Amino acid sequence: MENTNNLSDNDYKTGLQHLWLPYTQMLHHKPPLYAKKTAGTHITLENGDVLIDGIASWWAACHGYNPKPITDAVIQQFQVMPHIMFGGFVHKPALQLACRLCQLLGEDLNRVFFTESGSVSVEVAMKMAVQRQLNKKQYQRTKILCFYGGYHGDTFATMSVCDPQEGMHHLFHNALIQQIIAPLPTTEQKKQQCQELIEKHQNELAAIIIEPFIQGAGGMLFSTGHVLEFLRRMADDYDLTLIFDEIFTGFWRTGHEFAFKKTHVKPDIITLSKSLTGGTVPLAATIATEKIFEDFLSLNEEHALMHGPTFMANPVACAAANASLDMFACKNMPKIMKNLSARLKEGLEPCLDNKNVKDVRIMGGVGVVELYPPVNCDEYCRIFAHLGAWIRPFRNIIYLTPAFIMSDEEIHFLTSTIRHVIEQYAHR
Ligand SMILES: *Cc1c(COP(=O)(O)O)cnc(C)c1O
Repeated sequence: MENTNNLSDNDYKTGLQHLWLPYTQMLHHKPPLYAKKTAGTHITLENGDVLIDGIASWWAACHGYNPKPITDAVIQQFQVMPHIMFGGFVHKPALQLACRLCQLLGEDLNRVFFTESGSVSVEVAMKMAVQRQLNKKQYQRTKILCFYGGYHGDTFATMSVCDPQEGMHHLFHNALIQQIIAPLPTTEQKKQQCQELIEKHQNELAAIIIEPFIQGAGGMLFSTGHVLEFLRRMADDYDLTLIFDEIFTGFWRTGHEFAFKKTHVKPDIITLSKSLTGGTVPLAATIATEKIFEDFLSLNEEHALMHGPTFMANPVACAAANASLDMFACKNMPKIMKNLSARLKEGLEPCLDNKNVKDVRIMGGVGVVELYPPVNCDEYCRIFAHLGAWIRPFRNIIYLTPAFIMSDEEIHFLTSTIRHVIEQYAHR
């Protein structure tokens, strides 16, 4: 009988030969870390090493790992009803969650469509916007205005609204719907360019999609409420559906419960996922205003929203989300976010002294160090892991999106580790 160590080594080697890893050239990839368990801000590896997670599993695990209220709610719901199809049934976890999300978002956003991943929730938002035009016999209006630097997912429709150059999505150029891509309207000149594009294409356009305040996976680019105000005006003037993708920014990541709440601007549709369940189980939601919803009310059956994933509104996931909302409700989130922001700022701003650093920016629970040269991301991950931190840069961006429960000491450890690594390894 082999001992458990050898057994798990064997599992690792054999299993890896059957896995296809994300965003990974499988010919010569570095071996991925072998995770064993998680707790709070810690990831424990099979070899016993413990890492402090600086990015909360792609900014999803906002309460830290294994939060007890969510674990309890999940176990309880799983024993009662792990899943049931949503075609023909509703259930308490989904009913409750729909009410609570609408209440949090504000009275205009009133109808929730649940799905199981962020990309699909964006697809549904795009479909709502397009089908709404079709229902009004505007058959040409099927395109989406989107922005350089944006990221909305990896499925085909969502790829078409991502940044056309920076991501990997340029590869698929010929296979994608050609959308209308504009510069983010941050200056008067860009606003004008944006408006010209809208005017030129207004007969083809159905919607505008944007990540409010922070374009996340597309480059961690920050913007302001002026952009949203301008886009609201464009959407109203040209009869476009305004979609806010808050899959990254939702649930306090930017310091407000939802990024758009920093402004008076309201979207027609909003998408949420990632932290919706505290990053514990997959769930996403597309929430529309009553006005959008009404465009689907008709005696014509074909005017119904044509979507319905098998695992939509999974009861366990909805129970997890309800428990996550309970957790937020018991905390003083503005205070927590203010402190987290201050700690990220004092820890990361000294990076600006390094000549390899182009920019340091902080918003809410997001800390970004932008370097001049791109880094070897695999290599940086390994260096960080060796030092006891889980940080996964992309391109020339090293970022922190920690769990909101992180202690000042842990933030200090993460930021000083980043400073150290940049000093040791970043070279122009
Ligand atoms: C992660 C993300 C998505 C895609 O979500 P998945 O669950 O990975 O499909 C879409 N939009 C934004 C802003 C995201 O951060």
